[in-house]
Amino acid sequence: MKKIKQVKVPTAHIKTNSTKEVRHKSYDTAWRKFSKAYRQRHFFCEECLKDGKYNSEKLEVDHIIPLCQAPRLKFEESNLQVLCKSCHAKKTCKETLGR
Ligand SMILES: [Zn+2]
Repeated sequence: MKKIKQVKVPTAHIKTNSTKEVRHKSYDTAWRKFSKAYRQRHFFCEECLKDGKYNSEKLEVDHIIPLCQAPRLKFEESNLQVLCKSCHAKKTCKETLGR
């Protein structure tokens, strides 16, 4: 009579990624990676740069043509620019008002 050896399955250590991460519908993991890489190559807010300011704080990647108008250009670098948080907010405001 053969005895069935019980295989011990080690309880997998499930590493939960930071619970702080806020899930956003259109800004998924792929986008976060992409925008991070983009920001590593573009150091200053492009709007501030126009005023001669070198602002490298709180940078966000902005879509020149908004995603709602051209979702296919999401990962298209020619449609991207780096903006600081305040310039980005202004631009988003303008976009909304312009309709
Ligand atoms: Zn700015």
